[in-house]
Amino acid sequence: MTANQLAPDWLDASVDSNALVRGIWAESVLRTESGQINIAGVTVSELASKFGTPLFVVDELHARNRAFEVRESFDNALSAVGGTAQVYYAGKAFLCTEVVRWVAEAGLNVDVASGGELAVALAAGLDPARIGLHGNNKSQPEIERAVGVGVGTIVIDSLVEIGRVADAARRAGKTQRVRLRVNSGVHAHTHSFLATAHEDQKFGVTIADAPALVAEIRSHASLEFVGLHCHIGSQIFGTDGFAESAARLLALHAELLKGGPVPELNLGGGFGIAYTPADEPTPIAEIAQEIASVVSAECVRLGIEIPVICVEPGRAVIGTSTFTLYEVGTTKDVTVDVVDENGVSTGQTAVRKYVSVDGGMSDNARPALYGADYSVRIANRVSDAEPALVRIAGKHCESGDILVYADYLPGDVHPGDLLAIPATGAYCWSLASNYNYLTRPPVVAVKDGVARVIVRGETEEDLLARDMGVIRKAQ
Ligand code: PLP
Repeated sequence: MTANQLAPDWLDASVDSNALVRGIWAESVLRTESGQINIAGVTVSELASKFGTPLFVVDELHARNRAFEVRESFDNALSAVGGTAQVYYAGKAFLCTEVVRWVAEAGLNVDVASGGELAVALAAGLDPARIGLHGNNKSQPEIERAVGVGVGTIVIDSLVEIGRVADAARRAGKTQRVRLRVNSGVHAHTHSFLATAHEDQKFGVTIADAPALVAEIRSHASLEFVGLHCHIGSQIFGTDGFAESAARLLALHAELLKGGPVPELNLGGGFGIAYTPADEPTPIAEIAQEIASVVSAECVRLGIEIPVICVEPGRAVIGTSTFTLYEVGTTKDVTVDVVDENGVSTGQTAVRKYVSVDGGMSDNARPALYGADYSVRIANRVSDAEPALVRIAGKHCESGDILVYADYLPGDVHPGDLLAIPATGAYCWSLASNYNYLTRPPVVAVKDGVARVIVRGETEEDLLARDMGVIRKAQ
């Protein structure tokens, strides 16, 4: 098939438009003989008729196995160089009590970034000592609750927070373990490593300022400094950024050891996954090995012991476990001028098929927010119709409400078809909104042929529940 002139360069027109390309879909996903997508023994038609659409569908075993694999990769890599690892699941990617239990059973701790996320982790029954609290502007009640319940660590993000956490711990009669978030100057998503340690961003403190802040932390009897923290960005392929950041942080870590113990170093998350066949993420075991070998070499060079290495992956644990199921409402062929790389018309036209579904930016904001690319498949059938270049749009009153910018689907895609968009486990449900008063979709976990709701969908009643002007019938 020849490529549509409107298609981006990375989109391979030779890929079968019915194919489920491995690496983008959860492990158990396959096509049945009738052409249906089946996840862990349940077909999409069964899921749609039982739970409706849009629907988040999680392969439970995939998520659990992936959590285990990530933890084991870091455990093995660090123990091979004589160190130890601790893996925190970054709950911001997708948090509900069920997922907290899955990752906890796989041996991970949980990182939360607000009082709400902390409440979910606690509601799941997680030992508070296994929770880390983040945030550049934690409120006083959030700090007090975290200290009060006994969270394992609080990541301090600024000078003012030192006093707040210290006071809260003193009043509670506790010693709170804390980390200090530092900007390493490495921004892997821009592929540029800044030479300067003085950075223009809201998170953390500069490498230059860190020693004075650590001294301040150490001056409080109610605080125990456990180490530095950094996070270099998200959806990162390759290992150079992590290696560079680890080296920079270890140099500072070695300095700080002169003033007291520094048992841990937290290198954050950000390990990338595949959203389209063009994405080639680095296997997690390889990342873990590279980090371990850089940490080990740097520690030898600096003459220090290897600290406990903590990491905080979110997307790499949950992202690929899930697809979102939608129903097609309308399709429309739009003839578009083809322009060259400078935006100048070539005088030619090509057709893009717009396919609108029953969800949109309210259940997946990433394409609108970051221009993120996804892929898509017709989920309830296969077709040998000539592939068409499609753009999957949502139903919101916003022209930027796009779910998939470009993929090929069989050209006979039509209203009533079910579409599945893979790799929506991370930063989709957690970023969901009620824009245009759409209800947030349910999340269903599927395992061994059984699908169960782990987060129920919102109802119109939920939407109206907080509106104080609603005319309610007398009881
Ligand atoms: N840790 C911190 C401090 C973060 O800000 C983030 C994401 O923004 C993560 C961990 C998780 O990142 P990812 O889901 O890309 O692994």
